[in-house]
Amino acid sequence: MNTTESNLLLKSFDTKYEAAPFNDIKTEHFVPAIDELILEAEKEIGDIVSNPNPADFKNTIEALEKNGEKLGRAVEILFNLNHAETSPELQKAAQEVSPKLSEFSSRMLMNPALFSRVKLVFDDYKGNSSVGLNTEQQTVLDNYYRDFLRNGAELEGDKKKRFAAIKSDLARLTLQFGDNVLAETNAFILHLSDNNDLEGMPGFVIDAAAQEALSREMDGWVFTLNHPSYVPFMKYCKNRELRKKMFSAFSSRGNQDNEFDNKENIRSIVNLRLELARIMGEKNYATYVLKKRMSENPDRVNQFIESLHIASRPHAEKDYAEVKNQAYEMGHLGEIERWDWAYYSEILRVKKYDVKEEEVKPYFELSTVTRSVFDLAASLYGLSFKETKDIPVYHSEVSVYEVFDEKGEFLSLLYLDFFPRKGKQGGAWMTDFRGQSNIDKNSIRPHVSIVCNFTRPTDEKPSLLTFDEVNTFLHEFGHGLHGMLTKCTYPSVSGTNVFRDFVELPSQIMENWLTEKEWLEKVAVHFETGEKIPDVLVKKLIDARNFQAGYVSERQLSFGMNDMAWHSIQEPFEGDLISFEKSAIKNTDIFPDIPGSCMSTAFSHIFAGGYAAGYYGYKWAEVLDADAFSVFKGKGIFNSDVAADFRSFILEKGGSENPMTLYKRFRGSEPSIQPLLERSGLDRDAE
Ligand SMILES: [Zn+2]
Repeated sequence: MNTTESNLLLKSFDTKYEAAPFNDIKTEHFVPAIDELILEAEKEIGDIVSNPNPADFKNTIEALEKNGEKLGRAVEILFNLNHAETSPELQKAAQEVSPKLSEFSSRMLMNPALFSRVKLVFDDYKGNSSVGLNTEQQTVLDNYYRDFLRNGAELEGDKKKRFAAIKSDLARLTLQFGDNVLAETNAFILHLSDNNDLEGMPGFVIDAAAQEALSREMDGWVFTLNHPSYVPFMKYCKNRELRKKMFSAFSSRGNQDNEFDNKENIRSIVNLRLELARIMGEKNYATYVLKKRMSENPDRVNQFIESLHIASRPHAEKDYAEVKNQAYEMGHLGEIERWDWAYYSEILRVKKYDVKEEEVKPYFELSTVTRSVFDLAASLYGLSFKETKDIPVYHSEVSVYEVFDEKGEFLSLLYLDFFPRKGKQGGAWMTDFRGQSNIDKNSIRPHVSIVCNFTRPTDEKPSLLTFDEVNTFLHEFGHGLHGMLTKCTYPSVSGTNVFRDFVELPSQIMENWLTEKEWLEKVAVHFETGEKIPDVLVKKLIDARNFQAGYVSERQLSFGMNDMAWHSIQEPFEGDLISFEKSAIKNTDIFPDIPGSCMSTAFSHIFAGGYAAGYYGYKWAEVLDADAFSVFKGKGIFNSDVAADFRSFILEKGGSENPMTLYKRFRGSEPSIQPLLERSGLDRDAE
């Protein structure tokens, strides 16, 4: 075993900027280090509790903020590696420490002696404004106090027991819900062996299906209900009966009265959530959840959804009519059913804005795109990026930059890890190896990392990105700016540690530059000829963004409405689940009704993930980013005054203040849905 002496995770790192010494950290270091660091952190909490001095902000709240710094660092490194460069050993280590970490955090939040100190500080402050806490300190104090309350710290006797029982039942049921969806997704395959059934499908779809068949030791082609297989199948398969079969399988997941049925789970989950909210003194679960969101309460969310619905509805109907026309032109008879939608939509899309990926990609060479993104950060925020080889990396493909501010002062490290590998999760994300803080003038600057799965270079060609990949880069880089520019004192509120319905503003706002001709022309330069992207292509790319915007919006809203309905019940739910869902989303329906199909029984976001009373957040973030970007649009997309405001009011502030307050300081008013409607063409009359 490793002795303490050789386990680097227990010590201060002696690398430049104290960067994670990846070359010297061994997988077998993690579990013993984290075990020991948990003990150390618990001892520190013991010291806070037994401090003989009366509780005050410094000896309690600030002490908690300093608590477990090395533990946090080791955990970040472990989990970031587990996502970006994993191995069976690393996965095992992550699995081993996960329950230990959640037990550690619940022991802390259940510690009555610690809570009474936090409460003393809180009551003292509330009762005596002369305590003199600044805004950030008030926020941090408030967060601790509320976190304890939300974990049942003030409950007693039977209520406390019931609260704990509900929590553990919910943990079990939501896990079960997700497992059932997975089982139902995997239980169905469509096995094709007749060439004719492949009609309409492009080569890459057929190849993937053949590969799927091969991996199952079957002949022919296999399609599954997993998105990478299901979505292209529905888009391209000409055979209507097969599309119907796939759709029916997909939309009846969790609703087949078999061992994986989720109807009873939904009843139990929503009723337990209601009970939990009531124990906490709230009228329903949505009210309870939204207390910790920018939107603050269900009324505001419902009005928000409704106003977008009113604007989107006529456009969704127009989109439907357009697809129907397309289908009729091609000889389709009768209604357009759900299983016809993607197929005719794709034909229509190609007809309207045919932009082929192969045509676009040569204009987005990765190194040019990276430089252009850096240039954008330079023109907006005065940042400069200097590649360095002095910082250890966890894989030879990772590059590291030192980021400096406009005065040349060190701001952050930035790790970029672009290409897919075995051992890297799919998708793209921003994370950090070290958060930012500045307690006692001890300034710790962040180490931010952006991980993607972009098209690899080949022997003949450099890495050429699709339009969507460039969009992803800008998105994650926006999160990165939130992480790099942060200027807070306390780590729990710095950087991206903000409310969930606020966190996508810095990322999504960056996507706006991609559809601005002024920026697009700078970045999109042919990698061989050096020619800038043709105007006609730019126009197509920009126009194609709003294809079926009304329909897409209505669909998102229907998920949001269903979510809000389930979490706004005020009496335990006993009725018929399908009718409940239908009535919740009836205003968004555009297709003929299909008996047996159900959204809720496979709605993992809200019944297995963290999006309960939160699905609206996707649209909320779009409204925020469009509204915030409209300020740039008004004064010029490279306007440094607007950028300076966005930086000092939003990006530097993290979660140190209420997000609506921050937003209003930047914008001068609450966000309006109008700029989003304009951007997506939903502000005009649908004709
Ligand atoms: Zn994001």
